[in-house]
Amino acid sequence: MRALVYDGRLRLRDDYPPPKRRPGESLVAVSLAGICATDLEIVKGYMGFHGVLGHEFVGRVIESDRPGLVGTRVVGEINCPCGRCAFCRRGLGNHCPSRTVLGIQGRDGAFADLLALPDGNLHAVPDGVADREAVFVEPLAAAHQALITSEDFAADVTVYAVLPVDQVASLEAAIANLTAGQSALVRLGEPST
Ligand SMILES: [Zn+2]
Ligand SMILES: [Zn+2]
Repeated sequence: MRALVYDGRLRLRDDYPPPKRRPGESLVAVSLAGICATDLEIVKGYMGFHGVLGHEFVGRVIESDRPGLVGTRVVGEINCPCGRCAFCRRGLGNHCPSRTVLGIQGRDGAFADLLALPDGNLHAVPDGVADREAVFVEPLAAAHQALITSEDFAADVTVYAVLPVDQVASLEAAIANLTAGQSALVRLGEPST
C-alpha cells in the first residue's frame, strides 16, 4: 500500500506492507488525514518513532470482527492501552506505560491507505459532518482534554465542531471562550491558505 514513512528519512513508499489487524481491531481505509506539529517534530527525531506518520484522520472501516462496524465512517482515539496493567485496570489507559500511539509510538499511523486501531477507539462520524470537518476531531479532542484537565475549567461543555482555525492553540482558545454548561455549534471554514 502507499504510506508516508519516517525511518530517519521521510519517504513515500508504494510497497509498504498493510497493517495486520489483531483480534479486537478494525482495519480502516483512510479518506483524509491531517498534519500537525507533532508530525513535524517526529521528523526531527521526537519520540524516536520510525514508521508510518499521522494520527489525525477520517476513514471507513473495511474489516472488523464487530458486527455493524464494516462500512462505517469513523475517526479514532490514538492511544491504544495494553488493557492489563495497573493503570489500565483503573481505567487510566491513556497513562498505560505499554500503550502504543497511532503514528507516534509503536503503531503505524494514518498517512497510508490503511490503518489498524482497536474497535473501541473508533467513533462513527454523523452524516452531517464532512470529512474536512471530521479530520479535526483528534486535535479538537486533544485541546479539549488539555483544558478540562486544567484545574480552573469546568468540564460540562459540549463542543460539536469549531470555527475557522488552523492551530490547536486556536482550538483551545475557542473552547476556553465557552463557559460551563454551554454548548457551541460552530462550523469549520475552508483552510485560510
Ligand atoms: Zn496531532
Ligand atoms: Zn496498560
